[in-house]
Amino acid sequence: MTDRPVEIRDDLAALPPYRAPQVDAAIRLNTNESPWPPPEGMMKDLGERVSRLGLNRYPDREARALRDGLGARFSWPGDGVWAANGSNEIIQTLLLTFGGPGRRVLLFQPTYAMHSHIAHVTGTEIVERRVAEPWLLNAEAVARMVGEHEPAITFICSPNNPTGNAQALDVVRAALDGRRGLVVVDEAYAEFGGDSATSLLPRHDRLAIIRSFSKSWRLAGARIGYLLGHPWLIEAIQVARLPYHLSALTQACGEVAVRHAGAALSAVEEIVVERDRLSKELQRVRGVEVFPSAANFLLFRTALEGTPLWRELADRGVLVRDFSTMEGLERCLRVTVGTSEENATFVEALRGVLTDAEK
Ligand code: PMP
Repeated sequence: MTDRPVEIRDDLAALPPYRAPQVDAAIRLNTNESPWPPPEGMMKDLGERVSRLGLNRYPDREARALRDGLGARFSWPGDGVWAANGSNEIIQTLLLTFGGPGRRVLLFQPTYAMHSHIAHVTGTEIVERRVAEPWLLNAEAVARMVGEHEPAITFICSPNNPTGNAQALDVVRAALDGRRGLVVVDEAYAEFGGDSATSLLPRHDRLAIIRSFSKSWRLAGARIGYLLGHPWLIEAIQVARLPYHLSALTQACGEVAVRHAGAALSAVEEIVVERDRLSKELQRVRGVEVFPSAANFLLFRTALEGTPLWRELADRGVLVRDFSTMEGLERCLRVTVGTSEENATFVEALRGVLTDAEK
């Protein structure tokens, strides 16, 4: 660590920043983006829309059009939707509002690193429960944990990153049975599989559902995420958001995407077919254990050490994600489902490394 002329907060000094390696590679299957750009018609409309934006003025602070458009997709009022710069900003705003010193979050590991990271940054106490392979949460155990710790926020990630499995809705219901506290279901990958907790929204006002434009909508570069909840929740988090947090460019992009939803989301089916094909193919590779996935990525384990395998694959031009240092995920790597050509190249590279290791 470099010497700092000014000390940062003691509780952050040892915390590493979130950093997925951004290495140059011919085939990038490491951050669960879509392999295809957004539809041409959408980009054309967006270009026209952007050319007409009056950027001398601040954007609509409430992002009304985007929120109403998103709400309509779920037959849910725009007042119960909030949009932000990626779902990460949603996680941050929820923790700023409901977390903080003297408050607890409940997490089930292994899961998406930003839930605990932002909890740390906001000074929120973290209660973690390690879930054993195949990482399915047990409703009674969840209810017990919520009852015992009374967290301000319980995070459930479904489908879960990086394991890929979806959780049963009973698990969400069990968390909501607690007397108080917000239950946040991170559904960044929900379009690819699993049962969405959106069906529970009308009857549960302590439920918050996070969605992303970065995966199924093919818009990771635009940085758009949204929250579905009851209007009181959307109102409550306004205290922690920045004024005009969502630029006119981002809002325009979201609005145009919603208008082109059919075309933008058309790739989801293809990815799901590719995922299932890639999974079958990996199962046929000797020495590879691949876990079931309801997302646009697959977690797999081999007999080799994870980090050297990750490096060998990168040397062969295929970038995947190394999770082997995470407790419970020893020798595990995660691969994003790409185009059929990319997936084939990945399998070939993996076969190559495994064969060489046997020599
Ligand atoms: N939640 C989960 C489970 C994720 O995997 C990710 C991205 N990897 C995010 C949220 C954040 O996505 P974004 O900020 O791009 O919407």
